[in-house]
Amino acid sequence: MGRGFKLEDTRNIGIMAHIDAGKTTSTERILFYTGVTYKIGSVDEGTATMDWMEQERERGITITSAATTASWDRFGKKYRVNIIDTPGHVDFTVEVERSLRVLDGAVCVFDSVAGVQPQSETVWRQADKYRVPRICFVNKMDRMGADFDHVIRTIRARLGAHPVPLQFPLGREDNFIGVIDFIEQKVVVWLEETLGAKFEIFEVEKLWDKAFVDSRPDVAAALKGAAIDKKFYDDHRNKVIEYIAEHDDELIDKYLNGETLTIDEMRKSIRKSTLLLKIVPVLAGSAFKNKGIQPLLDAVVDYLPSPIDVPPVEGTNPETDEAELRRASDDQPFSALAFKIMSDPFVGHLTYIRVYSGVLKSGSYVLNSGKGTRERISRLLQMHANKREEIEDVYAGDICACVGLKSVNTGDTLCDEQKPIILESIDFPAPVISVAIEPKTKADQDKLGVAMQRLAQEDPTFRVSTEPDTGQTLISGMGELHLEIIVDRMLREYNVQANVGRPQVAYRETIRKKAVAEGKYIKQTGGKGQYGHCKIELHPIPSSSHESMKEMSTDDLDALAKEVVGGGSAGKWKFDKEHRFLFIDKIVGGSIPREFIAPIEAGIREALDNGILAGFPTVDVAVVLIDGSYHDVDSNEMAFKIAGSMAYKEACARAKAVLLEPIMKVEVVVPEEYMAAVFGDLNARRSAIQGTENRAGSNVIRVEVPLAQMFGYATDLRSRTQGRATFTMHFSHYAELPSALAEEVIKKHRGEK
Ligand code: GDP
Repeated sequence: MGRGFKLEDTRNIGIMAHIDAGKTTSTERILFYTGVTYKIGSVDEGTATMDWMEQERERGITITSAATTASWDRFGKKYRVNIIDTPGHVDFTVEVERSLRVLDGAVCVFDSVAGVQPQSETVWRQADKYRVPRICFVNKMDRMGADFDHVIRTIRARLGAHPVPLQFPLGREDNFIGVIDFIEQKVVVWLEETLGAKFEIFEVEKLWDKAFVDSRPDVAAALKGAAIDKKFYDDHRNKVIEYIAEHDDELIDKYLNGETLTIDEMRKSIRKSTLLLKIVPVLAGSAFKNKGIQPLLDAVVDYLPSPIDVPPVEGTNPETDEAELRRASDDQPFSALAFKIMSDPFVGHLTYIRVYSGVLKSGSYVLNSGKGTRERISRLLQMHANKREEIEDVYAGDICACVGLKSVNTGDTLCDEQKPIILESIDFPAPVISVAIEPKTKADQDKLGVAMQRLAQEDPTFRVSTEPDTGQTLISGMGELHLEIIVDRMLREYNVQANVGRPQVAYRETIRKKAVAEGKYIKQTGGKGQYGHCKIELHPIPSSSHESMKEMSTDDLDALAKEVVGGGSAGKWKFDKEHRFLFIDKIVGGSIPREFIAPIEAGIREALDNGILAGFPTVDVAVVLIDGSYHDVDSNEMAFKIAGSMAYKEACARAKAVLLEPIMKVEVVVPEEYMAAVFGDLNARRSAIQGTENRAGSNVIRVEVPLAQMFGYATDLRSRTQGRATFTMHFSHYAELPSALAEEVIKKHRGEK
């Protein structure tokens, strides 16, 4: 069939926002204007095109990240725009992470009244981590209290970014009618508020032409309402151009010499600086009133990267363990990442993939390189907002869905069988909350097994485990809502009837003191014996590095390893992200043969999973293997594995183990009259107030609260404020559980045995 569009004319983008900022509405409008959907869904009525699942419609939130293919014409060229849907709700940050992994650029939507909200902050940091270039869309300019400059200031102050307004809204609140474009010096005015409304474009000079303004009450009201005059415009525009020039070595001289920069030069420069993450272009609009969407799409094409503007993707060759790169090009070997698995009512199992290199044809075979399995691609689908299109092949840089891949999980790499590579997988956070599930009948028990396996395949932050003591099934996830939705799907899609327990906090364990211990597993009475012996030092990892450890580079980890061993060479070390566990091998002179080091590490790692206090996973520890001995005949891997686990448990017992609990960042927006009630209640929940501020007539309380204290908070808050307050919550960090409470948790754990 051949590639229907050029690689450099492709944009893989995500739209990110705090819940309610207008992500769904903006996406809908984008899909309308790119021509793929003609019957617009409205979030308020619960018919949004991108929100597929029933629960999403009922709750009015977007959970899944379906990818939708659209196109946009710019200067006579057709661009392919793939929109990867990212969730707005805080319980689903992993969905954001996973989409960030596969998109090249993002549009961040802000509410013109609220500015930067906590979830946008979290998402922003994640986008920083993946080095995703962004543009910002200040939405809801029609709202009471809309303040474009305020949003720009909060982007600068709270996100530490360098926002460059490329437009200024023409009017605000009821008088918001369009945008003034600083680059082209043009004004766009939408003449109605309906979908597909007509708009006019004219030179900015007309705004200062009294006769014109007098003839146009809409323009006059907009200028007056936002206090815009020529001086205001010139000052703003000059600042913007200066800012663009300052970030561009090639333009700065020209600018300083007083020469005029051409529109083309400015556009190129903005593109370059945006791709280098030096600046963030900002636009304004009202998705709901259908204003500002077309210029936003122009900006997506003008300023966000194509797959060839981002660095080649990195991976490991599973045969040689060597690092390899794949460039975005059709003539490279095929490689793709499975980033989303969904059950689709029409075609069943759908696996969304992002192709990084090469071409994939339907009917061909690929390698699932992490698992070493071969998969047949029976059908390829391009997903549009309102239809699915069967395609013959998919090319580098594009996104599509595959039908019929049974054993592929989210995060798996698919590649050319002859050129295996494992792309860096997606980093998933560990769950913070769990509930027990008890099937009602034997038949439900069987169905539960199938349901859990499928759901876990789709969602890697959702885990299923069995309580070793009670045999109960436990499901764990990222928040109460996350688990509620899973339980809901279990019921609706898999028809499993079950009793659901109360949510429980997923605690962690760590240590506070250094300890040294020995593990000896020696049995030498007749016949072939057992001999494993090792000596280890157990260190707490300095708390300052905890939160960022997942993102630490090899150099940082090396420095940490050196710190742990107290200077000098750190020897050989290995790092386990999930447990934030550093294993350092300081064996010299062969006191333990090489082949027994890995079993020792494996033994310790297993022991980490079941902490000594209450059986929770242990995190943030470093183990230094310092000595040991072996026996020529009796030593084997198993003996060293047991010795490692014995040494670790022994050391832990002396290392002042403590329990850690998840602490959540919570933001409550509450009218003045309920402030005292909300404060009083938060105080009773072991919270730490981080600050309060006034935002458009409402008070915003920012607070950190242990997750254990937040169960059922939605209901409590509603009843205390007659439903007038709202809150958002997301995971912040783990902190030590106060000892009295820790006692209770430990007692409960022991009591259940
Ligand atoms: P999401 O949670 O970020 O996906 O936000 P939605 O798109 O669902 O929008 C949240 C609410 O804000 C809905 O009630 C929308 O109708 C409303 N909304 C979205 N965009 C605008 C806008 O430009 N102006 C106004 N006034 N309301 C908007």
